[in-house]
Amino acid sequence: MSTLPLLPTTVVGSHCKPGWWHLVQEEACKGNLGPTDLQEALDTAVDIAILDQERAGIDIISDGEMRRGLHFYRTYYARLQGVQTAPPQRRLGEPGYDTRESYEVVGRIAAPEGMGIVREFEYLKAHTRRPTKVTCAGPQTFTWGVTLRDGYRDDRELLYDFARIINAELRALAAAGATFIQVDEPAFTRWAADGKTFAEIYNATVEGVQAKLALHICFGNHHGRPTAKRTYRPLFPGVLAARADQFVLEFANRELAEIALWKEFGDGRELGAGLLDQKSYYIETPEDIAERIRVALWYVPRDKLYINPDCGLHPTPRWVGLQKLRNMVEGARIVRRELGAE
Ligand SMILES: [Zn+2]
Repeated sequence: MSTLPLLPTTVVGSHCKPGWWHLVQEEACKGNLGPTDLQEALDTAVDIAILDQERAGIDIISDGEMRRGLHFYRTYYARLQGVQTAPPQRRLGEPGYDTRESYEVVGRIAAPEGMGIVREFEYLKAHTRRPTKVTCAGPQTFTWGVTLRDGYRDDRELLYDFARIINAELRALAAAGATFIQVDEPAFTRWAADGKTFAEIYNATVEGVQAKLALHICFGNHHGRPTAKRTYRPLFPGVLAARADQFVLEFANRELAEIALWKEFGDGRELGAGLLDQKSYYIETPEDIAERIRVALWYVPRDKLYINPDCGLHPTPRWVGLQKLRNMVEGARIVRRELGAE
């Protein structure tokens, strides 16, 4: 990645879904699409995600997680043995975390054919010349999303089994040529309310993975709603034991609260700073973004700062998200010019 500019721009993972993508999902759920129909539609969706990011000028792109269904990890449960679906807890009213279908672990989990992320990466790699980032939910996210019925003594045993399966996928990704891999986890769970435990779980997940590694810690983004207490402070400094080259954190939707943590605890590692609020319909101007970058530079060395949205763009309408991405790139260019680095 030696060709990257100063203040590289990137995404957290998911891209805005075109309107027809939702129609395709609905028809697929009703059983109205054959496997070829679905594959063609999802390939096209990834092509669009790649083009959108390239045209916006994003330096490191993803495949937009376009193959992952409406809820970013549900597709993976479908690829795992030992997991079955259950109806949502709530069906009436505004959609939220409790209106998703839920998942139950009914036996030992296994992924005999992998989790499918290697195939996603291979398609991405074959269709862009830009540097890429590949993302995968971490074991805390997976365990948080299921109810344990059978197969394990307790959630903790299940958590480490998820870590084992994800680790195999990440090693396969690195072997397939992925050079930048990001693990996504929610900010607080009952297994790791403290940073040290959080780091232990993460380190088990990435053990032996030969790639640049990022850890995205998230407050939740489903339907644009958070699910965790929006503070990172209790995780520091313990979480710095995570073997991550880069931390990818949310700041824009909290008016840059806690970005000073990087001065207080920063140990020379990179920060992927969320400086674009993908939850808001307010479209930040390039100058808004430039202003946030200038603030971030008070706390983060310029060669350690990456610019990204707070989280994935899957809840953001495409017409909003596209303009936001363009403006984020333009904001980074403004600051690069000021630094004499454009
Ligand atoms: Zn996130």
